Amino acid sequence: MRTIETQVLVIGGGATGVGVARDLAMRGVEVVLVERRELASGTSSRHTGMIHSGTRYVLRDPRAAVECYRENQTLRRIAPQCVVDGGAYVVLIPDDDPAYVPLWIEGCRAAGIPIEEISVGQVLRTEPAVNPAIRRAFRSPDTTGDPWRLIEANAASARQYGARILTYHRVLSLVEEQGRVVGAGCRDEITGEAVQIRAALVINAAGVWAAQVAATVGLSVPLLPSKGVMLAFNRRAINRPVLRCHPPSDADALMPSHSVLLSGSTDGDICEPDDVSINPAHVQIVLRESEKILPGISRSRRLRAWSGVRPLFIGEQAHDDTRQITRSHAVLDHESRDGKPGLLTIVGGKWTTYRLMAEEVADLAAGKLGVTRPCRTHEEVLPSDDLARHIWPGAALREVETSATSNELVCECELALRADVERCVREHDARTPSDLRRLARVGMGTCQGGTCGYRAAGLLHDLRRPDPRETCAALQDFGQERWHGATATADGVHLRQMRLNELLYTNVLALPAVVRLLPHEQTIGDRPQ
Ligand SMILES: Cc1cc2nc3c(=O)[nH]c(=O)nc-3n(C[C@H](O)[C@H](O)[C@H](O)COP(=O)(O)OP(=O)(O)OC[C@H]3O[C@@H](n4cnc5c(N)ncnc54)[C@H](O)[C@@H]3O)c2cc1C
Repeated sequence: MRTIETQVLVIGGGATGVGVARDLAMRGVEVVLVERRELASGTSSRHTGMIHSGTRYVLRDPRAAVECYRENQTLRRIAPQCVVDGGAYVVLIPDDDPAYVPLWIEGCRAAGIPIEEISVGQVLRTEPAVNPAIRRAFRSPDTTGDPWRLIEANAASARQYGARILTYHRVLSLVEEQGRVVGAGCRDEITGEAVQIRAALVINAAGVWAAQVAATVGLSVPLLPSKGVMLAFNRRAINRPVLRCHPPSDADALMPSHSVLLSGSTDGDICEPDDVSINPAHVQIVLRESEKILPGISRSRRLRAWSGVRPLFIGEQAHDDTRQITRSHAVLDHESRDGKPGLLTIVGGKWTTYRLMAEEVADLAAGKLGVTRPCRTHEEVLPSDDLARHIWPGAALREVETSATSNELVCECELALRADVERCVREHDARTPSDLRRLARVGMGTCQGGTCGYRAAGLLHDLRRPDPRETCAALQDFGQERWHGATATADGVHLRQMRLNELLYTNVLALPAVVRLLPHEQTIGDRPQ
């Protein structure tokens, strides 16, 4: 068994955990972070990428609204490479109650969120796909960002300050000695080796799994896992997010993301933390509601559906409707709360507010460790790299048109180049097509990996020379993840194209059964060749 000693152990490599590791490392604290899979493999990569300004929450959840606006502004400053530098339109559609608008305007004013009424004509001139029947419109500071880039940037910064980030290390149980949490027993998911990590303080940032982690030492964390479904369309019909001006409800926001359009999400499907199955009824809700903002969008090609599970902190709140549960967060000091020192839990919140969540729990941790250096994560700009150009489709296109030849393109839909793949391997230790998806958006566009998956896998194989079985397994994993989402929404021509891809992979390329669309009576087999 391997043993590691550190000052602070952070559990969870989502936005919150990586933010905590960065914050503490910048204060000079020795930190080890463990993540059971790759970074951002939990809810932090399964959302719609909206950097909220808080306008959604001003009436029901004013604390969350204020936090969102503050962090929206902070992220624009510290992570310009991960945030689209624009705003959103908030529109009143014919279904919405006009009486809500003055209350909402007053709520935004009270929360300090700058909104501005604009004419319907101005909206329709700049975003002609928006429902022409909208009755009022406002500009708001809501925008979008890239969750993977932001986590990578936080992780890079944390490492620069000395934090150790151990991916594929699963916490099996917290370790308790004489009533105090003193570390965690982990398993290296690649080698199978047992690893014990001993720490003066453990921070549980395991998101929707935080209750499971705390339960290993008999503690309860009142979390409600609430699943939501989102859809990606291949038509980037708008260039800024468009939200409805009404109390938050299912699929009432649409937003451009890189080359595609996202819609979502639904809420209220209470489930197990690991359940990311896609509820077909929720897909229909997203289609129906999206149509109200962008008429005709439901007839566009649906690239995929996916789901994520919200870690809603219920505390003492009564809840008939999950949308009434706060989107703010809670820091639990298990010493004062449960008489169990050595463990802090950070739960709830939003991706938008990850930095603030990290700051609050790091402040508490620093106090316990006697560290006096203050938080600086709101001041210091996060590191950037060349791959950041992917957040602006125009920038990627310009580069391809001016300097790349077509045989350098690995992913045509997302304009990822051979040089991008090489950089991902060299600088980010990318091992699989799924890593390339997160880092360079390979497979995120119209073909959903059908055309670029095998190229990416082949190129990775050339660059890394692993066991061929590893390459085939990684390609299969990538394809199945993509097709899982695509089959949930595909119909007609799209379904036929997927079937063609399936046959190409299995019968022409003799590759593993990347696609499991229909029974494989016509395939050669799914063993790696
Ligand atoms: C459908 C949906 C849409 C959303 N849309 C938005 C949005 O547009 N904007 C926004 O701001 N927020 C949005 N959110 C909320 C946001 O996604 C989450 O609040 C945020 O990502 C949570 O981050 P986290 O780091 O706390 O949790 P996670 O990202 O889930 O991180 C927890 C990590 O802990 C790891 N872990 C779990 N157990 C263990 C273990 N035993 N050992 C080691 N590691 C472990 C997991 O693998 C995971 O990576 C949305 C959420 C959902 C579900």
